[in-house]
Amino acid sequence: MDHYDEIKDLGAGTWGVVKMAKQKSTGRYVAIKKIKSERSEEGINFTAIREIKLLREFKHENIIELVDVFTTPDMAVCLVYEVADTDLEKILKNRAISISLADTKQHLLSLLRAIEACHDRWILHRDLKPDNCLFLKDGTMKLADFGLARMYGTPKTRLSPQAITLWYKPPELLLGASEYSSAADIWSVGCIFAELLLRRPFLQGNQTDISQLDKIFQVFGTPTESNWPDHNTLPLCTRGLEWDNCPPIPVDEIFTAAPQDCISLLRSMLVLDPNRRFTASQCLNHPYFSNDPAPTPKEKLILSSD
Ligand code: AMP
Repeated sequence: MDHYDEIKDLGAGTWGVVKMAKQKSTGRYVAIKKIKSERSEEGINFTAIREIKLLREFKHENIIELVDVFTTPDMAVCLVYEVADTDLEKILKNRAISISLADTKQHLLSLLRAIEACHDRWILHRDLKPDNCLFLKDGTMKLADFGLARMYGTPKTRLSPQAITLWYKPPELLLGASEYSSAADIWSVGCIFAELLLRRPFLQGNQTDISQLDKIFQVFGTPTESNWPDHNTLPLCTRGLEWDNCPPIPVDEIFTAAPQDCISLLRSMLVLDPNRRFTASQCLNHPYFSNDPAPTPKEKLILSSD
């Protein structure tokens, strides 16, 4: 920490406290995430290495910049990022901030641009949720927390179905899929889009994968041979788990205040069959983004009520 003056704690994550600090040489404010190895004999934490490897490749307006990396004598790795002012979860929870349809369009545009850049480089984020969408003071959204991110591609990489916070987790992961791809992130983006429209998490399961699947099927209907041909090959289905037949609810009955183009894009993301979900690039080309209202310019977004 010789090159930085510590200022205050910014928050706590899975890997420990994140602190705000000032870089002595430049006067720049930064956020430092200290990742400790659980057992010092294991050496440097693997999650840290993964995050460093992935973020080093990126210079993108909507992806958090990794400014510096250093280690401490106790084998912790410190990741130094540009500092953010707030995040989407705080904005969504702050009832004094109103989120217009134009604001929602700007948030979704930024998020999709970040995800498109990840997927273009064969990187899955795997933990998309509102608290990982940070905002700089000037209103720029920055996707953060690449600790769970993984490279993927052909031949199909086997990945753990444990990734992704429950409410944003796609049905294929909940059913135990170990071969999944960029479509998993798109489901999570769809959940965040829905949350921006509803102002509450859309699919709030009750702590277990089964309860999360129940929630999803109550809205989108139980999978069938026609809406999701391969679902029966996934581990939870081959183990004989069955659901009562549930018809889908028309999405516009849930999002009553949303315009048709908005509903149409949302429906293209929240598709049970991952092979039929839009890609990030397809989403960005949807008429929703060229129709009125135009996205709110980022510098006009209201980020706090102070
Ligand atoms: P994480 O370990 O990435 O989940 O971060 C834990 C918490 O630290 C987050 O919920 C944020 O409140 C805060 N945080 C992480 N990165 C930054 C950053 N670059 N700027 C400001 N706060 C951050």
